[in-house]
Amino acid sequence: MKTHFICLPFLLLPFLIYSVQAKIPQVEFRFEGAFEKPQKNKLRQWLRHELKTVQQGVGFFPEQQIFFLIKRATHNREPVPWAYVERAQPPGVIFYVSPTFSMQAFLNDWTAVHEISHLLIPYPGQSGTWFTEGLATYYQNVLHARSGILSPKQAWQKIQSGFRRGLAQTKKQKSDFLQANQHMHTSRSYMRVYWTGTAFFLEADFRLRTQTPDWTLDLVLKELNTCCRHQRKVWSTELLIHHFDQISHTKIFSSQWQAFKQMKGFPDVEKWLLLQDISHRKQEPTRVISAIFAPQK
Ligand SMILES: [Zn+2]
Repeated sequence: MKTHFICLPFLLLPFLIYSVQAKIPQVEFRFEGAFEKPQKNKLRQWLRHELKTVQQGVGFFPEQQIFFLIKRATHNREPVPWAYVERAQPPGVIFYVSPTFSMQAFLNDWTAVHEISHLLIPYPGQSGTWFTEGLATYYQNVLHARSGILSPKQAWQKIQSGFRRGLAQTKKQKSDFLQANQHMHTSRSYMRVYWTGTAFFLEADFRLRTQTPDWTLDLVLKELNTCCRHQRKVWSTELLIHHFDQISHTKIFSSQWQAFKQMKGFPDVEKWLLLQDISHRKQEPTRVISAIFAPQK
């Protein structure tokens, strides 16, 4: 969903330490509005679980501390109608929730895993909306499969139906991809932008796993946070892509980005849409898709 970037006070910067965390970060919970005590307990438990889903699923978390601000939603149609990241120090996520939903309904909801996954990379700026939303949308499905909330088949079907929605929206638009990304809110190109980004990361993860001996998207992100995140306070999509290529000793990210920059329509996802059965673990490409959805060692 929506990301917010809050500039850090300059004087604090030399003292910031971005170490890749093997442990769950310290969490500060803040509540705004009327919540009963059992509801607060349920919401704390839910968000601790979601943070663990991301940290254990990807294999690291870049922050030592995080806050969750929980507010009451104005309607009760779904557990988490709205949420967004705040890139403060420490960073956090603001959730608008309907607290009467069951714990299982909260665990089944994708929003928290999506928002927490945004924090796996630095904010790439507004022009990188497709990039940060693509990463978070990719991981919301992958991590729900790794944690067992979705079966691999269900996660794959969700990715496929997202691609279909992205394709359908793109067909109705005259703008090219970068224009759609730039004017996402006014042209309401959410499906196109989010799922174009998801296609980027699925393709990159797949190519890393088939073209390199050891690299995966998880490991590239972990290495970025270890080696390079502290070097800069301002990032861009281009810089992130440059680092991802350097880390993986490939041109996978930059070659895909070159193609995406000139793209008029939606990425070529036909081969993914044609892949119905991902249960054959000894054959390509299903072996790789199954590995992506499997719990990480
Ligand atoms: Zn998002």
